[in-house]
Amino acid sequence: MVKGVKGMNDLFGQDAAKWIRMEEDIRRIISSSGYGEIRTPMVEELALFKRGVGETTDVVKKEMYDFHDKKGRHIALRPEGTAGTVRAFVEHGMGINFPSPLKCYYIGPFFRYERPQKGRYRQFHQLGIEVFGDDTAEMDGEMISIAYRIMTHFKLDVEVHINSIGCAQCRPAYHETIKEFFSEKKEELCSDCKERLETNPMRILDCKICKPKERWSETPVMINHLCDDCSTHFSRLQNALDIFHVAFVVDPFIVRGLDYYTKTAFEIVANTGGSQNAVAGGGRYDNLVRDLGGQPTPATGFAAGLERLFDLIPADFFHNQPLAVAYTLTADGVEQLVHFSKHISHHPVKVIVDYKPRKIKKALQRANRFGARWVFIIGEDEVKHETILVKDLEKGEQREYKQYEVMNIVQMLIKSSL
Ligand code: AMP
Repeated sequence: MVKGVKGMNDLFGQDAAKWIRMEEDIRRIISSSGYGEIRTPMVEELALFKRGVGETTDVVKKEMYDFHDKKGRHIALRPEGTAGTVRAFVEHGMGINFPSPLKCYYIGPFFRYERPQKGRYRQFHQLGIEVFGDDTAEMDGEMISIAYRIMTHFKLDVEVHINSIGCAQCRPAYHETIKEFFSEKKEELCSDCKERLETNPMRILDCKICKPKERWSETPVMINHLCDDCSTHFSRLQNALDIFHVAFVVDPFIVRGLDYYTKTAFEIVANTGGSQNAVAGGGRYDNLVRDLGGQPTPATGFAAGLERLFDLIPADFFHNQPLAVAYTLTADGVEQLVHFSKHISHHPVKVIVDYKPRKIKKALQRANRFGARWVFIIGEDEVKHETILVKDLEKGEQREYKQYEVMNIVQMLIKSSL
């Protein structure tokens, strides 16, 4: 038997229906704030992610799905959305050709070669937003408030954790401070953090193995070393979040895994009965557009994992739209059923039509397997009178309609499913 690739999932049945509802709701929330969709390719040159995401990050060092194509180009499946979006922004001159600030969002599959486990897959899905051409803390606030609004729309119990990781002015000096601090503890660090000490000491702060937040309360944190500009930005962000009604906590140990962030960094964690689970994260990346060859352009954004979001949505959020299944009991009824199918398909009700004549008992059994609320039946009498029998399986009632009374049938279905 041929099997799917490890860590990559099929989506079908009830889950597919819920997933589509989830995507539709997300698009509605984001686009109502004036964000337009951007679709970039699933693959990019590997060099983009090395430059954009950072050579020292776990994503690039350990988790890339990369390969050489037939012409020997070094290609990678995209592990995140920001690098590709920035590449497209620069390549198409969006900073010049479009009004500023440019607000866009994406939603789609991403790939990381990680060890698959619950909530962690090799093909997973993210939604993300990116705003180009705006350096205000208030825009960071709007961006975080949209992420928060999506989580609360789906009834998730979440906490927003924010931090500032400084800028090119204030971070270098802090890097030295933290490098010194952890150098003294080198022997107590995990092997990855020993390496981080040289390449990116700030990343030690959120190491899941070393856990400095719990172990060393005196760890120097960036928010105590911010320059005036970053400090003002951070307090304005907090003010904006208050106005947007986003409940947040300041967590100076959030540094994010990717190299490109400046000033604002944030994560949204979901409380799942004792444990906490990161569903979304992001921040400001004022240097990335320039680093990828564009004009210096401030930018801010976030990404959220759709599998994690999906798993956390309470079961009763998507109450199923009730279903009707239509049968004929006789070959003479097939054509009338086709007419009926054509007419009812124009209305916002869910009807599955089965054109093969069935015995009544079998028709009802099949409708049951679909979990149908109603069964429509065209039997011999109905063919003669051009009627259709509508059985409500939930109420145990039935009623005959003329086949042309599609509007009345639709109204009844909608009314009784409210
Ligand atoms: P990141 O781009 O690493 O900041 O991830 C943003 C969000 O994407 C995370 O908070 C997760 O919800 C989700 N995510 C990241 N990697 C995976 C994965 N391998 N499988 C499923 N979800 C993921």
